[in-house]
Amino acid sequence: MEKKEGPEDLIGPREGWDLHCHTVFSDGRATPARLIDEARTLPGLHGVAITDHDSTAGWKDAVQAARTAGVPLIRGAEITADWKGRTSVHLLAWLFDPAEKTLADLFARTRDARVERTRRMVEAISRDYPITWDDVLAQTGKAGLTTIGRPHIADALVAAGVVRTRSQAFDTIISGSSKYYLPVRSPDALEVVNAVRAAGGVVGLAHAASPTRNRYLLTDDDIALFASHGLAALEVWHRENPPAGRRRLLMLARRLGLLVTGGSDWHGAGGKPNRLGENLTADDVVAEIEKRGAIPIVG
Ligand code: AMP
Ligand code: FE
Ligand code: FE
Ligand code: ZN
Repeated sequence: MEKKEGPEDLIGPREGWDLHCHTVFSDGRATPARLIDEARTLPGLHGVAITDHDSTAGWKDAVQAARTAGVPLIRGAEITADWKGRTSVHLLAWLFDPAEKTLADLFARTRDARVERTRRMVEAISRDYPITWDDVLAQTGKAGLTTIGRPHIADALVAAGVVRTRSQAFDTIISGSSKYYLPVRSPDALEVVNAVRAAGGVVGLAHAASPTRNRYLLTDDDIALFASHGLAALEVWHRENPPAGRRRLLMLARRLGLLVTGGSDWHGAGGKPNRLGENLTADDVVAEIEKRGAIPIVG
């Protein structure tokens, strides 16, 4: 029988897992230990995924904290990809083998490209505002290990008193339409899907209906093409997906047989207003992700 779509489908489950969280190993402001500690205290939150941008460097600390606290943990990442030079696509990858060389090399290339691009942006910004590259590096939580990005420029601008908050920087000096903006040179989305699949991981498409971050919204055909290469899930419940977009993604997931997930995109206090566990993924979906993944859930 066809399931009737109710309003609850646009909100997502009340209990379950938060499959999209960042730490100081990318642009989050909290350590993995802090992520686990906050997760432990939240009722209805059954577990979390650590999904730093283009890196697995935070996994070790997260595993240790998760074991100690008894909080179930999915090891993952959020991968920066390009689609036809039209838009940047964020792919969530869970439970892949971190030692698999193709994927590990891909992460390293993107991190190098991020350093290069962020440095060039800072060079241009520093002609007009009192910040240096060293000021930006000083904002990374794990020197040398943190995946760098615009949020760290934002933090340096805040520290210099140029803007008050990260969001104010994103609305002005470092916005996608600012004269200082440069895109990150990143691998094609299909290449990323294939690489994660080759590493035994499960791939989801992050916040695909977000109008604020995408100049070009992925079409149903684009997403169907990703699915034919092994995309397994759509992140429907994310604060940046508007109701109409959620409805479209839900229909598409049903048509293509994709899993549906929710995530907060938590970046810690001062990182983003997103609250840990504000969007969740159902336990049975997580069980399916674990069944398909190459490594187990911790705890
Ligand atoms: P980048 O990948 O270097 O272009 O920077 C984009 C990242 O900045 C995204 O992954 C978001 O996590 C973060 N971001 C975007 N908008 C904001 C905002 N208004 N406040 C804080 N972080 C943001
Ligand atoms: Fe981020
Ligand atoms: Fe993202
Ligand atoms: Zn994210």
